[in-house]
Amino acid sequence: MENIEAIYPVGRLDKSLLVVGGNKTMYEFIGKNIYSPLYKMVPEKDVDRLKNAVSRCNLQSGTQAEDVEECLHFINEQGRYDTYLVALRRTRDFDGYEIELQNVSENIRRIERISSRLGMMQDYLTLSGNALFSYQPADDEFKLFWMDYEQQVEICDMPFEQWREQTIREGRVSEKDREAFTLFCEAVKSGEQEQTYTFRGSILDWGKSEDTYRVKILPRMYAGQKRVLGVWAVAGKRTGSKAGDYVEGSHLDSMTKLLNRKGIMEYAEAKVAKGASVAVVMMDIDNFKNVNDTYGHPFGDAVITAVADVIKKVIGGSGVAGRVGGDEFMVILDNSGDELMLRNYLRGIKMNVGALFLEKVGNNKITCSIGVSRNKVDSSEFKELYRIADRALYLAKEKGKNRYIIYKPELHGAFRLSEGDRDLTDIKEAFYAERDLFAFNRSLSGLILQGSGELSEVLEKMAHVLTVSRVRVFWGENRAVIGAYPLALAADPYDRDCFEKEEYMQLFQNDMLQIGNLNGLEYTIPEVYRLYRENDVCSVLQHYLRDEEGNIKGFVTVEECSQIRGFPKLAVQIFESMCRVLNAVLLKEDAEQKKALDN
Ligand code: GH3
Ligand code: MG
Repeated sequence: MENIEAIYPVGRLDKSLLVVGGNKTMYEFIGKNIYSPLYKMVPEKDVDRLKNAVSRCNLQSGTQAEDVEECLHFINEQGRYDTYLVALRRTRDFDGYEIELQNVSENIRRIERISSRLGMMQDYLTLSGNALFSYQPADDEFKLFWMDYEQQVEICDMPFEQWREQTIREGRVSEKDREAFTLFCEAVKSGEQEQTYTFRGSILDWGKSEDTYRVKILPRMYAGQKRVLGVWAVAGKRTGSKAGDYVEGSHLDSMTKLLNRKGIMEYAEAKVAKGASVAVVMMDIDNFKNVNDTYGHPFGDAVITAVADVIKKVIGGSGVAGRVGGDEFMVILDNSGDELMLRNYLRGIKMNVGALFLEKVGNNKITCSIGVSRNKVDSSEFKELYRIADRALYLAKEKGKNRYIIYKPELHGAFRLSEGDRDLTDIKEAFYAERDLFAFNRSLSGLILQGSGELSEVLEKMAHVLTVSRVRVFWGENRAVIGAYPLALAADPYDRDCFEKEEYMQLFQNDMLQIGNLNGLEYTIPEVYRLYRENDVCSVLQHYLRDEEGNIKGFVTVEECSQIRGFPKLAVQIFESMCRVLNAVLLKEDAEQKKALDN
């Protein structure tokens, strides 16, 4: 023990515990007590423990002596007691003891501080289960605290931005979840909607350990003032790293971490209603089907995510973005009044998207088309702005894609709805996109020009436009299924005979049948009712197809399986014109086939 060049007091004691040798620190430690045994340096309550340690030493045999450890208080220079970890050992020739002392007061003080805090935290955690926060946009005041029924224990109380900056700087948020944390912060600041975020970090316990937090944002109004409240729960350890458990709630798209359709629509509607000078930006990736077909679906997903990231980076805090469909995005940009700035953002998005995955795709650059309308310039109603932006996007596609068009009536003509177009508005409300109608019409002309080979494309587009579950075309003497959406349905056995029963045919008007609620058939035409029931059909549109002589030669059936619904007038019109076009095409092809056989 003598040769330990320790920073601790290390020394030799005689049998009465007088210091008879030691290192420099030992002599500093005993100071003016140099002529007193160590018993004099411990408080009364510790004397017995020291005696006890000494007798334990004495019991050991000299050759196999081991350290006896004891925790004791010794008086220091300032006359206060410090806590020491004491190691005592009998000398080999049993003429005294070796001693080593380690001052642990500082550690203990630190541990006590931490554990009292943690203990308190744990108590509150078990009391309420959750921490809470409150944010007041008016003065940027942010409070994060634990709560039981009587008290509030503050974790922080400071301006929100300062807290956010500090939390990041001190590494209190897991590196991997920075983005989710940023989204969370932005959602708190905007306070627009209820939403839950999940991220990992050590925010509640001063950096002790990493937990998973599920934080729910609850915007409220109190006395005309906005308050964003939140419940901050500690969840179990995260299991997977799937995007799905990254951000949650019904407003977020898990793949891109942008708002989803519902989220961005609600946000946009609220923003427009408030009269904010926002631009409604609709954006769609060009020829995305080719990207999927050429490089595969997973790469397609990577492109969607990368485009979303471009949007986020370019718009920064100047807007909010959402993914409204497969390869389609909506961005609500602030400050649309400044057209130069607006163009800068749009150019930034266009250029950066154009630079994505260049190494992989080379000349088949990834591009996007963009259409824009502006609140209070083009309209003050969100639905109208959405329609105009969507139409401008369609124009951008028509003009050759990879471009943006900010709607200008003098350049692009009036897109506005007239009163007579109300039915179209109803359809928009049900989220039929006007652009889908154009796409549908395009594929319908494909059907006329290229024949029934285009049928599955047309049926898919129609199912999309009408937002229905199934479409089927029966044609020929045995009413074979010649086209279906989804494709797998073509092989589905289906008892089509009952569709030509007298009572059922009487329900048709001008070859068309619409049944919003099939329950009405239960007693009148039970066979048909049963058939639909067995196939989970709730609502139906049906149209007969006829031959040259006017005899029934088949029919087209549109089935809705998820809900009982009516079909808007425009939907019925679309369906009807599709059926007429299809009927003509099929007759023409039959005639050509017959001619070929005759020759
Ligand atoms: P356009 O230039 O006219 O926009 O042509 P497009 O090929 O991009 O056609 P459109 O926008 O109509 O088609 C979008 C396609 O995106 C249809 C669908 O196959 C695909 N898609 C939809 N969602 C996803 C997705 O989550 N991942 C991938 N990889 N593809 C998707
Ligand atoms: Mg596209």
